[in-house]
Amino acid sequence: MNLHEYQGKELLSSFGVRIQRGIVAKNAKEAVDAAKQLTVETGTAWYVVKAQVHAGGRGKGGGVKLAKNLQEVEDIAGQIIGMNLVTPQTSKEGKKVHQVLIAEDVYYPGDNEPEEYYMSVLLNRSTGKNMIMYSTEGGMDIEQVAEETPHLIFTEEIDPTLGILPFQARRVAFNLGLSGTAFKEMTKFVTALYTAYVKSDASLFEINPVLKTSDDKIMAVDSKVTLDDNALYRHRDLAQLRDLREENPIEVEAGSLGLNYVDLDGNVGCMVNGAGLAMATMDLIKQAGGEPANFLDVGGTADAARVEAAFKIILKDPNVKAILINIFGGIVRCDRVAQGVIDAYKNMGNITVPIIVRLQGTNADIAKDLIDNSGLDVLSATEFQEAADKVQEVLS
Ligand code: GDP
Ligand code: MN
Repeated sequence: MNLHEYQGKELLSSFGVRIQRGIVAKNAKEAVDAAKQLTVETGTAWYVVKAQVHAGGRGKGGGVKLAKNLQEVEDIAGQIIGMNLVTPQTSKEGKKVHQVLIAEDVYYPGDNEPEEYYMSVLLNRSTGKNMIMYSTEGGMDIEQVAEETPHLIFTEEIDPTLGILPFQARRVAFNLGLSGTAFKEMTKFVTALYTAYVKSDASLFEINPVLKTSDDKIMAVDSKVTLDDNALYRHRDLAQLRDLREENPIEVEAGSLGLNYVDLDGNVGCMVNGAGLAMATMDLIKQAGGEPANFLDVGGTADAARVEAAFKIILKDPNVKAILINIFGGIVRCDRVAQGVIDAYKNMGNITVPIIVRLQGTNADIAKDLIDNSGLDVLSATEFQEAADKVQEVLS
């Protein structure tokens, strides 16, 4: 689950990570009130108006703007709220902006220049340890830094049984070229950041930029936070931060029905039990010259109700030209599944795309007979290759 920038910052702040402060607003009037309130709290004279959508690169798309007075806050907030923000990380249509964060301006002039760093915390799957990735080259595309100047990206691996140790926090500050107050601030920042990551069961923190202000404070100016869905049951308060408007509506509906569904770009819908078989089925579709329209794992109990729910979800995608059902009857009996498919097909009454059903396992023969004698426009197969051939046949 992804959080908005403002939610991520609140989470960080609750663990003692210094953040650029801000107040979220849903319309221009709220934005002005937020700005006034912010000046009372922080003394800031200028403000940054920041679109809150689940996508990075907002600055490049015109979703982050500096406002030098309340009138500009009102105008810019009015402009950004309701717009479809297109960034390098969104689709061509962009993402609708429902709210903005009014943030204090922290790039004020001073003795030192403000500096932007990059920092993320994530799991290194090959070592099985969390790591902190960081760079002096913040504020820009880290992908570009990785490509052109990889030596400017540092990593610090953390032993999970020990947590982040003081010498590691100091090494981070040292590698970023800091000294004096900023050095101490950075050790505190990175320690609190790592603690927040572990305690919130996050799978990614990306803070770009981390700012060194001209008076040597270290703070998070942006936040991208991804939480581990499988740990959300331990964080009821965080689970509530989910913003369904930011997610694919078909995936949200499938999730509420207990189906593991991922929307893809292709033309053949698949309904499969088990993630491994689902992956193999997607390969099969590709080999047959099609493109999978989705990943869909119906789980262990493929009864009529679930099959029907899965049909409905698959058919919401207008690109679907055929559906391949590939189910292994281990615990669930194939004849039950076949009956479920037939019942769902009849119940829906409006299925116009060809359907290929491959059932293998317990009572597969009975299942094939049921399908073949159902009088419906459903093709049956028992072997993998047979199913592939039939997919090819209906696509051509
Ligand atoms: P992103 O483009 O989605 O990554 O959004 P960010 O939150 O990283 O903001 C984009 C850029 O806006 C930052 O890299 C900064 O250069 C700029 N920015 C953010 N906060 C301030 C601020 O307080 N003052 C000024 N002048 N610029 C800011
Ligand atoms: Mn950023």
